Amino acid sequence: MTQCGDVVTSEPVAGAGRWHLRGVRPFGADPVDVVLDGGMIVEVGPGLSPAGANILDADGLLALPGLVDLHTHLREPGREDAETVASGTRAAALGGFTTVFAMANTEPVADTAGVVEQVWRLGRDAGHCDVRPVGAVTEGLRGVRLAELGAMASSAAGVRMFSDDGHCVSDAVLMRRALEYVKAFDGVIAQHAQEPRLTEDAQMNEGAVSARLGLSGWPAAAEEAIIARDALLAGHVGSRLHVCHVSTAGSVEILRWAKSKGWRVTAEVTPHHLLLTDDLVTSFDPVFKVNPPLRTATDVEALRAGLADGTIDCIATDHAPHAPQDKETEWAAARPGMVGLETALSIAILAMVETGLLDWAGLADRMAIAPGRIGGLPDASPDGTRALSAGAVANLVLVDPAARWTVDPGALASRSRNTPYAGRNLPGRVQATFLRGRPTVLDGKIV
Ligand SMILES: [Zn+2]
Repeated sequence: MTQCGDVVTSEPVAGAGRWHLRGVRPFGADPVDVVLDGGMIVEVGPGLSPAGANILDADGLLALPGLVDLHTHLREPGREDAETVASGTRAAALGGFTTVFAMANTEPVADTAGVVEQVWRLGRDAGHCDVRPVGAVTEGLRGVRLAELGAMASSAAGVRMFSDDGHCVSDAVLMRRALEYVKAFDGVIAQHAQEPRLTEDAQMNEGAVSARLGLSGWPAAAEEAIIARDALLAGHVGSRLHVCHVSTAGSVEILRWAKSKGWRVTAEVTPHHLLLTDDLVTSFDPVFKVNPPLRTATDVEALRAGLADGTIDCIATDHAPHAPQDKETEWAAARPGMVGLETALSIAILAMVETGLLDWAGLADRMAIAPGRIGGLPDASPDGTRALSAGAVANLVLVDPAARWTVDPGALASRSRNTPYAGRNLPGRVQATFLRGRPTVLDGKIV
């Protein structure tokens, strides 16, 4: 029983202990020591010698705020053969994430307070990273009637982001109502922007490669039309819209226009859309089938530029594990999606840092600070100034920027193997992840 004067925390910090991280480089800056205690960063500076602390020699390692993924499919409840909350969050911690937002297209759909609380509890019990459930916008993702958004928001899971991801909320009136509804508690509607009629039976990006292969295509206009419509609605209603996995150069232009109006529109891009292009589909290897589809090199270039200049706010993985019977089939029957939690940081380094488009602080903004702000995390300060300073919550990741590793699908912590990077040698390795001062990963391994 709680007595008056007891310290009550909303989250357990058991096992957090006291940690002395020696010689880390916050955001890539000069080496300092960082002391963690009671789940918080308590001291940052050169040559510290705290008493009674576990020492981690982090000479040369970068320290970044714990990464935040706004777009993760954990598949539980319903498809535990593809992923569970426990296996997906192990993958997340190994990838440097301290929070993931779990998408609602589970079986049953996360469209009630009961289901979102179940997912939230599974995440808390697994303990590898924080799981913030995303609630469905419409009942059963059917796009007909709004789900119980208020009940999910006021549940223990405290849902702030809603999405029918996998499906587009294509009915404009329903989308308007959803935007109006979440405004009351500063929620956000995350839209999978895909005009359904324009993308019926789509198999890949519509363009030169689809014409050559004789596959029906997702035209860029199907994505761009919904983003433009929703930006207008968000501006009209004065509510928050977040655009999932932007994939075309035209989408970047529309977002730039929407932001110039001062509308509350944010957007994410996946690591794979920053690197891979639609000519990979000529292999007919279903590992490259994804929704939205891989686009052209021109689109990749525009997405990188948009992320660099802040038109696109953040990177989100769209980690989409699939069981072999759903993925290792002929192209047309394969489910779209790729796993991405364990490779996201390396792909981001490859696409954005090694190209000189972002420095480490910029990468930390796009993978931790901006997504935390968009998702409404209580620890997120508006400009990220508290991250990695004394008084901040001790969510952080230590990265060896000089290390390289080769992706072995069989060695991933995810239950699924559908990575497009098998055998690829990638830069940057997560050495340690701390969740509220407690290590979830040490020496590159789950604690
Ligand atoms: Zn989606």
